Amino acid sequence: MNIAIYCGSSFGNNKIYEEQTKVLAQKLALKNLNIVYGGSLQGLMGIVSNESIRYKNVVIGVITYDLVDKEIENKNITKIYKVNTINQRKEKMEELSDAFITLPGGYGTFEEIFEVLSSTQIGYHKKPCAFYNINGYYDKLIDFLNNCVKEGFIKKDYVDMLIVSDDIDEIIERIINYKAPKNKWQN
Ligand code: AMP
Repeated sequence: MNIAIYCGSSFGNNKIYEEQTKVLAQKLALKNLNIVYGGSLQGLMGIVSNESIRYKNVVIGVITYDLVDKEIENKNITKIYKVNTINQRKEKMEELSDAFITLPGGYGTFEEIFEVLSSTQIGYHKKPCAFYNINGYYDKLIDFLNNCVKEGFIKKDYVDMLIVSDDIDEIIERIINYKAPKNKWQN
């Protein structure tokens, strides 16, 4: 199984983000779950890729040609795909992956996971999406999404389908047993 990891090109201000990212990389490696990620050495992206390689996991990167120097390509990973545009990057990562885990990050990370989430609800794929909620980073986002349900702009099923936990074993377990909700326009 290939797991996409969406995460920040920053480290965050608390060491816990880096430490728990290493735990995630180690546990995925022990379970032979390959990782697909943005191919860079920056921030948590560098941590997750280097730690995965240290644990002899398969790491597949997808990066755009123009980001190779700016985000600094990790040259030690198993395989790297270079694409022309950021949309091709997202598309390739989605195509290669069987599930998605979002770590703390910023706009780039949000953009990536929200695209996958919105494709779930229109039925473009049935792959599980998780938030690795290190240090409660995503608590307020989940509160916000629940408010979107309350206000009638997101169906409850599409918030209930999210796997949110700070325990990577639980996330893996729920990914394996995941059942996708019906798509939005199905009866
Ligand atoms: P950030 O979460 O903002 O630190 O960014 C994390 C990663 O997302 C970086 O590798 C960015 O290049 C990438 N990124 C930024 N914008 C996009 C986008 N529109 N689509 C895909 N990846 C993006």
